[in-house]
Amino acid sequence: MCPFFVSLYCMENKKITIAIDGYSACGKSTLAKELARELDYTFIDSGAMYRGVTLYAIRTESVSPTHLDKEKLINALNDIQLEFRKVDHERHLFLNNEDVELEIRKKPVSDFVSPVAAIKEVREFLVSQQREMGKNGGIVMDGRDIGTVVFPNAELKLFITASIEIRVHRRLLELQSKGIDSTADEVKDNLTQRDYIDSTRAESPLRQAEDAIVIDNSQLTRSEQLTLALKLVNEKLNSPIRT
Ligand code: C5P
Repeated sequence: MCPFFVSLYCMENKKITIAIDGYSACGKSTLAKELARELDYTFIDSGAMYRGVTLYAIRTESVSPTHLDKEKLINALNDIQLEFRKVDHERHLFLNNEDVELEIRKKPVSDFVSPVAAIKEVREFLVSQQREMGKNGGIVMDGRDIGTVVFPNAELKLFITASIEIRVHRRLLELQSKGIDSTADEVKDNLTQRDYIDSTRAESPLRQAEDAIVIDNSQLTRSEQLTLALKLVNEKLNSPIRT
């Protein structure tokens, strides 16, 4: 029985919300995916959703190297249906029933995603879907505004960082493993530019939530990072919460 002034999380049943934010290519999705697997939670890569909208914008010519037709894209938002479905044990993004998981990782989408993600209406459109996905807890979502805007009451917020060299190296390996050609310079330019746009935009800029725990994973292996995050989850599940 819980003391009258304290309610304890019932560890066996309680499913918390875990928000993971940080700069591009810090390994947020890798950690989120592994945490979700260990905890039997749902993993949501919110960046994939912004990439899905951007792919739609490219295909419908709302965005190109020379222009961004915000009005056209905003008017078309209701024609965009995004869904995560399991394919070969991985969660793939489907855009209007088409598996676009590979397409959204390619250069054209990476080049335009940050300007598209800076549009207020695009953010509102996706944030409401993200909140719906996480309304019952038991979710690990990674992105840029998860702990600050999407789930400001998330029980655990992590802010991931890593040196730019490490991030470029990891992203290059990831792209190569998917058969996508790129160079270190291209990747570095893209990451630097996206980080700049993401942290300086007016709408929900990337920033560390005040109650986020910072993890610099530059010198951590994947399994060390996972062990550290699981320890933090356990601390949250064990900590009494004043009501
Ligand atoms: O996570 P990923 O690098 O795939 O995200 C792609 C882009 O989507 C980011 O650079 C950012 O512009 C946008 N994004 C965002 N808010 C999120 C997730 C991603 O603005 N929650």
